[in-house]
Amino acid sequence: MRVGQRPRMRLDRRGVEAVPPAAMVAAEPAPRRRVVAEPAYLIFAVAEAEGGRLSRHERQVLGAARRLADPGGGAVVLVAPSLAEDAGAAGADRLLSLAAAERYDLEAATALLAAAAARYSPRHVLFAENEGGGDLARRLAARLGAPFAAGVEALSAREAVCPCRARRAELRLAPPFLLSLAPDRAAPHVGPAHEASPLDPPAAGAVRRGILTAAPLPVTAAEVPLAEAGLVVAAGNGVKDFAGFLRLCSALGATPGASRVVCDAGAMPRAAQVGASGTVLDALAYVAFGIAGAPQHLQGLGRVEHVAAVNTDIHAAMIARAELAIVQDARRVMPALLALLEAGG
Ligand SMILES: Cc1cc2nc3c(=O)[nH]c(=O)nc-3n(C[C@H](O)[C@H](O)[C@H](O)COP(=O)(O)OP(=O)(O)OC[C@H]3O[C@@H](n4cnc5c(N)ncnc54)[C@H](O)[C@@H]3O)c2cc1C
Repeated sequence: MRVGQRPRMRLDRRGVEAVPPAAMVAAEPAPRRRVVAEPAYLIFAVAEAEGGRLSRHERQVLGAARRLADPGGGAVVLVAPSLAEDAGAAGADRLLSLAAAERYDLEAATALLAAAAARYSPRHVLFAENEGGGDLARRLAARLGAPFAAGVEALSAREAVCPCRARRAELRLAPPFLLSLAPDRAAPHVGPAHEASPLDPPAAGAVRRGILTAAPLPVTAAEVPLAEAGLVVAAGNGVKDFAGFLRLCSALGATPGASRVVCDAGAMPRAAQVGASGTVLDALAYVAFGIAGAPQHLQGLGRVEHVAAVNTDIHAAMIARAELAIVQDARRVMPALLALLEAGG
């Protein structure tokens, strides 16, 4: 059953007999893509695309880039490692793929971005103001000696607004060459998909490498701090079998979380607490087993993109917050899911 933000799915069996034979059904036209064949200028939107997916913040950066490109006939270039999703649907006219390995070597990534900027001469380069994007933006600004506005909170083709002096003042300026966008300050692109045709990557040239090796460390999801986890599965007061819960987290490759009631009872460590007095998540997905969804708990889901909930009470606030709700006993759903995963399903 689906409840929450989207309409419930239903089968509509009316008029089944009236359906014409397959041969008479006109083939659906291929979805049309917006093509900007000869752009007046380019706007770069730089994304880390962790795990091959654009984060919500990065889709907002693409939305802001469209606001700079559309009024003057410009095109948006998504600069990212290879993606597992449709960059055109997120608003990219062009795709400039950079080697994923450079993500861990910021010196090399900065050199590559500088080479791309020299080759394609974008009007603006936009970043997400977060740990990775903010760092890269500052390095590029220093390398190019280019003007940079950090943590922009409102952006149009004429003006960028960013806070300064510890938020006691506001700076309004014509959008400079480099900008980093604060989270939740621009809408992502909606509407027809764009072309997302590939651009040739620039030659990296010789990079002076201060870093000798750069590679991801092998850590299990359980070791990842909650605030940095991509997938969090959490247990509430409705869960009693915590050994089974932790086995399920491990099978899903998820970082375990919990409600405060569970941490207060000592069934899970305090570090696992999700919520206002615990950790605020930045995950792609969150699954709640037997959690009511008290306001203090929901505050911890501020930046989560997809929420699923398992609860016996259809009226639980957690169910209302979830995109996918399973109204069922967690004691039945958890072992069934674990059995499926262990069977390779
Ligand atoms: C100042 C303050 C700060 C707080 N900060 C936090 C915080 O950071 N994080 C936090 O989580 N809470 C916090 N709380 C506590 C919060 O108000 C709630 O008390 C708490 O979140 C409730 O936890 P729960 O949903 O696990 O438990 P409950 O409220 O007991 O809810 C259990 C849920 O599980 C469902 N259920 C029961 N059995 C089953 C089953 N077998 N299968 C499926 N579903 C089942 C029930 O229908 C119910 O919805 C704070 C409170 C205060 C006052």
